Amino acid sequence: MLSANFGQLDREIDMINRSKADWFHLDVMDGLFVPNISFGMPIIQHIASKAIKPLDVHLMIVQPERYLKEFQQVGSNILTVHYEAVTHLHRCIQEIKSLGMKAGVSLNPHSPVHLLESILPELDLVLIMSVNPGFGGQKFIPHTLKKIEALREMIAASGSKALIEVDGGVDQQTAPLLVEAGADVLVAGSYVFGSPNPEATIQMLKELA
Ligand code: ZN
Repeated sequence: MLSANFGQLDREIDMINRSKADWFHLDVMDGLFVPNISFGMPIIQHIASKAIKPLDVHLMIVQPERYLKEFQQVGSNILTVHYEAVTHLHRCIQEIKSLGMKAGVSLNPHSPVHLLESILPELDLVLIMSVNPGFGGQKFIPHTLKKIEALREMIAASGSKALIEVDGGVDQQTAPLLVEAGADVLVAGSYVFGSPNPEATIQMLKELA
């Protein structure tokens, strides 16, 4: 939703509701963990009130454990925190799940997947950043494919049920490669909202994947 037109947010929400997309992906930025500031609780609550699909909320904020309950109260269904932003990650994940949400951890491009080895059995989702977080419309980092392959093996070996989600630079070229490497969920923002027919673009990506 970061790439949506917020001047006509309800129309954008309707489009996602109608489309073949499975989830709404919301990027929350605090101007500290990442340079940008995006949106907060009122916008999430509004989207939740109109959405007929789960809200996948990606927190690009420092110390996200300060706000877990608030994000649950405004309607988040899946809550993902950054490995790089939390000191007590295990506790944070337990808290997200105890609030009734699915729990995810995201890795920046510089963070190797083996960092998640001890927490993997607890996770519902791992979100691999395939660009440096903080802005929409950035170029895909090819090394991401190797990370997804390695994570796929780790998940199989650990018996974890975590889904692999990829965020950044997803388009017609990268989507099939990401799925082939083992990704389960693809996040597409500017590629969808910047296209002449976003609903058709979503359908095209779903058919590629
Ligand atoms: Zn995201």
